[in-house]
Amino acid sequence: MRAEVIAVGSELLTPSKLDTNSLYIARELGQLGIPLVRKSVVGDDRELLCEEIRRAQACSDLVFLSGGLGPTLDDLTRDAASDATGRPLLMDESIVREIEARFRSFGRPMAEVNKRQAYLLKGAVKLDNPRGTAPGQWLQDGARVLVLLPGPPRELKPMFAEQCLPRLRAMTPSRPLHSWHGRVTGIGESDLEQRIGPLYSPCSTIATTILSSPGDVQIHLQGQHGGAVERLAGQISAELGDAVYSTDGRSLPEIVADLLRRTGLHLAVAESCTGGLLSGRLTDIPGSSEFFAGGIVSYSNGAKAAWLGVARDTLERFRAVSGQTAREMAERARARAVEALGEPAVGLSTTGYAGPSGGSSGDRPGTVYIGLADSAGSLVRRRQFGRGRKRVRTLTVLGALDLFRRRALGLKIP
Ligand code: ATP
Ligand code: MG
Repeated sequence: MRAEVIAVGSELLTPSKLDTNSLYIARELGQLGIPLVRKSVVGDDRELLCEEIRRAQACSDLVFLSGGLGPTLDDLTRDAASDATGRPLLMDESIVREIEARFRSFGRPMAEVNKRQAYLLKGAVKLDNPRGTAPGQWLQDGARVLVLLPGPPRELKPMFAEQCLPRLRAMTPSRPLHSWHGRVTGIGESDLEQRIGPLYSPCSTIATTILSSPGDVQIHLQGQHGGAVERLAGQISAELGDAVYSTDGRSLPEIVADLLRRTGLHLAVAESCTGGLLSGRLTDIPGSSEFFAGGIVSYSNGAKAAWLGVARDTLERFRAVSGQTAREMAERARARAVEALGEPAVGLSTTGYAGPSGGSSGDRPGTVYIGLADSAGSLVRRRQFGRGRKRVRTLTVLGALDLFRRRALGLKIP
């Protein structure tokens, strides 16, 4: 059995909107061991869409369409699916009544155009959509299945999870794919490849994917045999050691959040070169007020002295980008959090030259100091992150989070 996804919508062909529904569907299918062999994006064009559905059905048993089920004239998925399958669209009175009831609950009459959403392909089963007006459709023809899903992710995901997954499970002889999702920081992509390539290359039954972004490499392993996946994951973990910060796909901020929650510590930050990015990554996590106390973006020397309380003497003698300043920033952030919350806290700080220019004293761009202060004292690390302002700032955020992770777990701090 193989699957395809067709994401429908002209907005998905513009630079401002990305098709994320297919990523969700790909993950869910992967867990069932159903390979996704192709995905495509088609604009709101009835003929093109019909052609694409025909092509997909000719080569795959399962075809998922996302989007284009709305009430307006540019929502063409139903019509195109009817053209492609040769099945007429039939009005379903029960859907009309449901849409009417939904509008009534909002205190509005149903517009006539909404009746467009009440048509089902002949022979299709309706998929309920309690979060929107457009129902989905499941059309099974022997072993071939065509599924129409609404575009909004908040409607598509629960519909898929609640109404498609049980049907798919019933169709698949359950041999789920086993997977491992490791994440690594502090090792570059090519270095990592050199170290683990010889481990995974001989494993022809395990699909290995390596996704690399600055400061974060993700390793995905997938295979039919759990034991083999586990063995390879073990070998990779042993080779990379404590650079592997996650074995279940969680991001570094999520790992740090968990460590903070477990230790009952609150994190306070003093950011210079990262300008709030560190706070941003931490507060991306829902419920972050449990562990994130807050922070100060002390970008200028004046702010470092007045708002944070770094000694003016330190700033003058050692400059803002220095180990001494980073240390005082972390200590002051921690002290302020303890004072404000009356609870144990840890301070993290960043100061450096994000580039393109470096320091007047000859420090190259990309030179960064990261400080950490906790109840046991404080420490500072000097890092050289190279060029590219955005890249340097990202690496600094991950470097600071990793410094905390290593300290919290009692790991070696390079
Ligand atoms: P509606 O009734 O809202 O019109 P629809 O089924 O017709 O639903 P679309 O009109 O195609 O769906 O898309 C509605 C919204 O859903 C889009 O504006 C977009 O924000 C989001 N959306 C659609 N397709 C995708 C996709 N493949 N990935 C992520 N978001 C999507
Ligand atoms: Mg629409």
